[in-house]
Amino acid sequence: MTLKKMNFGAGPAKIPEAVMEKAAREFLDYGNSGISILEMSHRSADFTAIIKEAEKLMREEMSIPNEFEVLFMQGGGTGQFAAIPMNIARGKDAADYAVTGTWSDKAAKEAEKYINVHKVFTPTKPYVTIPEYSGWERKKDAAYLYYCANETVHGIEYHTRPETHPDVPLVADISSNFLSRPFDFTGHGIVFGGTQKNLGAAGLTVALVRKDLIGHENRHCPSILSYKEMHANNSVYNTPSVYGIYITKLVLEWIRDGGGVEKLFATNQEKSRLVYDIIDSSAGFFSCPVEAAHRSHMNVPFRIGGGDEALEASFLKGAAERGMVGLKGHRAVGGIRASIYNAVTLDETKALVDYMNEFEAANRK
Ligand SMILES: *Cc1c(COP(=O)(O)O)cnc(C)c1O
Repeated sequence: MTLKKMNFGAGPAKIPEAVMEKAAREFLDYGNSGISILEMSHRSADFTAIIKEAEKLMREEMSIPNEFEVLFMQGGGTGQFAAIPMNIARGKDAADYAVTGTWSDKAAKEAEKYINVHKVFTPTKPYVTIPEYSGWERKKDAAYLYYCANETVHGIEYHTRPETHPDVPLVADISSNFLSRPFDFTGHGIVFGGTQKNLGAAGLTVALVRKDLIGHENRHCPSILSYKEMHANNSVYNTPSVYGIYITKLVLEWIRDGGGVEKLFATNQEKSRLVYDIIDSSAGFFSCPVEAAHRSHMNVPFRIGGGDEALEASFLKGAAERGMVGLKGHRAVGGIRASIYNAVTLDETKALVDYMNEFEAANRK
């Protein structure tokens, strides 16, 4: 099977070819069961083995500390925006939020329904940076400190973990950089993400929750967003995303067989460096507004000709002719966005960079 297109989409995004091939082979008849996983009971022995293996691989590949539970949930990253304050307010009336882009902004807005949101700095728009941690106005009695580890729309990524008070757990949204780099759990209480960017299909959300934060949900918290219910039922409180869990298991096997997260990180750094290098060496023909120290290894937003929309449309057209899809920037930012998640290969990234070079040579005035 050869895939005809190179997919630079932001999410749902490219899934490794080896995973797609294995899923295709197993699609109609899973392990000689005579039925597809899509048709299988979530209480069957086959699926129980899949979900257990998915958790085991997740723990191994991400080096998840023992004091964290692995919960497979639904409702997307967005569901967690509500689940977090409903589960871990623990009687406190405020939580700290670091708003650095669209996703942390959405999380803060959703949380306002359930808790007082205290922003640790005034969001600086346009979003191009992460303010120095030393200047963050953190509350000692905050229920938690929330941040988005990689702002998918704006291409801003944390390369070190934020500072926090010992009693204020960090909550990290890693939807778009899940297992793209080693993760330091120090100081964290919840680490969560949807799987549709780096870990497989849409419809599954993985929440890694520190044990002491489970069991504090408020009385309005729906059971399917309750960490306590999910944990007590091994993530099968109701019908889970059966197929999503299966695909994530395959992606985790692919990560393991490819040499693990350190290896992926090395490749991801190389890929992003190639793209930023051509942007920075183009004397303004390409431009990325994000401050160099906070640029994402996963999502690279850029403009062409200082935001010349006709030129950008022409770039996208030429890209499509070369089989490159998903490069149109988010409507909030405009321009181009190259998402180079784990599954996007070095060769595909080089093909993009070659095209950028060619396009610059042909269009520079
Ligand atoms: C995609 C994304 C989300 C939203 O995920 P849904 O599954 O659509 O709710 C949240 N946070 C970040 C950083 C994302 O990239």
